[in-house]
Amino acid sequence: MDIFWTLRGFFRAHWRSYCLAGGLLSGVAVLALLPPLIIGRVVDGIVAGTLDAAGLRLHALGIVACACGIYVCRYFWRRTLYGASYLLSLELRRDIYRHLLQLSPAALAGFPAGDLMARATNDVQAVEMTAGEAVLSIFDGLMTGLLVLAMMALVLSPTLTLLALAPWPFMSWAMWSLGTALHTRFDTSQAAFSTLNAVTQESVGGLRALRGLGAEAHTERVFGEASDAANAASLAVSRIDARYDPIIYLTVGASFVISVGAGAWLIDAGRFTVGQLTSFTLYLGQLVWPMFAFGWMANLVQRGKAAWERIREFLDTPSAVPDTGTLARVEDHRLEVHISSFDYPARDQPALRDVRFTLEAGRTVGVVGPTGAGKSTLLALLARFYDAPGVRIRLGQHDIREYTLDALRDAVGCVPQESVLFSASLRENLALARPDASEDEVLQMLRLASLESDVAGFPAGLDTEVGERGVTLSGGQRQRLCLARALLAECRLLLLDDSLSAVDAETEHAILAALESHTRHLSRVIVSHRLSAVQAADEILVLREGAVAERGTHPELLAQGGWYAETWRYQQLAAVAERLA
Ligand code: ADP
Repeated sequence: MDIFWTLRGFFRAHWRSYCLAGGLLSGVAVLALLPPLIIGRVVDGIVAGTLDAAGLRLHALGIVACACGIYVCRYFWRRTLYGASYLLSLELRRDIYRHLLQLSPAALAGFPAGDLMARATNDVQAVEMTAGEAVLSIFDGLMTGLLVLAMMALVLSPTLTLLALAPWPFMSWAMWSLGTALHTRFDTSQAAFSTLNAVTQESVGGLRALRGLGAEAHTERVFGEASDAANAASLAVSRIDARYDPIIYLTVGASFVISVGAGAWLIDAGRFTVGQLTSFTLYLGQLVWPMFAFGWMANLVQRGKAAWERIREFLDTPSAVPDTGTLARVEDHRLEVHISSFDYPARDQPALRDVRFTLEAGRTVGVVGPTGAGKSTLLALLARFYDAPGVRIRLGQHDIREYTLDALRDAVGCVPQESVLFSASLRENLALARPDASEDEVLQMLRLASLESDVAGFPAGLDTEVGERGVTLSGGQRQRLCLARALLAECRLLLLDDSLSAVDAETEHAILAALESHTRHLSRVIVSHRLSAVQAADEILVLREGAVAERGTHPELLAQGGWYAETWRYQQLAAVAERLA
């Protein structure tokens, strides 16, 4: 039941809806009490021969009026109560999404995409049911149950009511034990569903690679196992679920047998009328719903609790960097980097050590070096995906930790090598960066990213859909689109992580030159495996095994005759050979 306590903030915020729904439900409960009484009177009237046609019509009209009242109240409580619980799922999904955006890649690594999807859909729905259906069940069950019991005990017969309720303690005990078993099984079932989701998502995402590797049999086995586990876990939940109804029917059946037996004896003794016994058994029938309601509620609460724990587990995952900064705007964009040492948790060797450089606003620094040298790690630190004691990075007059994460994300744009595009139109993908950008601005950024002519060639221009339902973009087009999106965001510090690797060297050169001349305010940190991309940089750092092995401008590095000069010569030769081929 503590799930209701956990959700108290939500209930408090929407107390009006819950009170209104409670009022309407009470209306239904009260109106539902009348028909059994009316029917009892009719029966007594018939037995005594005192009921005429006009009286019968009047009683029938009373029952119809009750039914209409119940219909209207039901319609409105459903709208009010479920309307409120939908808002809870909306809020939860928003929280999940917001947290997703804030989590650093390291923290996110613990949650495969499929698992996250399960939490954002299935689990959220289970919690929503707790705030809607479970609240309904507990309130309506209690209200109807108490009112019906009061009518049975106070208006009809306290003795018969006590006798009829004799089998109830057995039912309460059975339901309680089922509830406990259900919680653990539901937890297992949701976890198994998450795994299945993750496996499905990974297999679909990597389908091409799997075929290329001939790894279909392996994936099929992994998928089969995950599917079997999810199936078995769901079945385990259903087995417990299936025990609720028979327990209730057995209890109610026993109550009926006792009532009719004992009622007949009371009538015989002249202490009860046939009409009263009719009303009593009709009321007993009305007690079936509260019993189901409690069983259903116990079930929903256990599901909601397990689901809530899984959602909280995600929401409570701390982002690797706390958002404790207070400065809401980055004013000055001079970058000063002083990394004495940075290591990833699971490694004994530092990924970066002794990296220092300064980047004046509007300037470019190039970062090159062999794979695994620490280039991406450096960019991740600049974007503040990680914090570490040995890392001091200042933007303007302040350490980057003094800015709010929002301010930092506004100032620093990162374009990764793996471009992320959504199944939407080009325009919508671009608008993610800045929804209020004008058409002119969008076109200007497309021009800067050398994508304007490509877009003009698409069937619907900027409104062309990309992704699964639309055109398939080439790797280079995707990268250029992501660059245009980052430019549109108007960040003042642009981090390019080999983000033009799929574009040919000449186009890359044209794009970087256009950036140089059109975006004077923009500071750039360019990581590239192709040295020509950093040729024009104000300073180039060559990283090797996490440390700066060489540094200087392009001509200076060529003169040094180290890794840079050698790689430059090799790449030039390779380019010539490619042109000749
Ligand atoms: P580069 O971008 O130059 O190829 P990276 O910055 O990706 O190099 O990696 C630098 C070193 O840090 C490598 O040895 C890599 O294995 C390690 N590394 C990168 N990311 C992580 C991570 N998330 N956890 C642990 N080690 C990592």
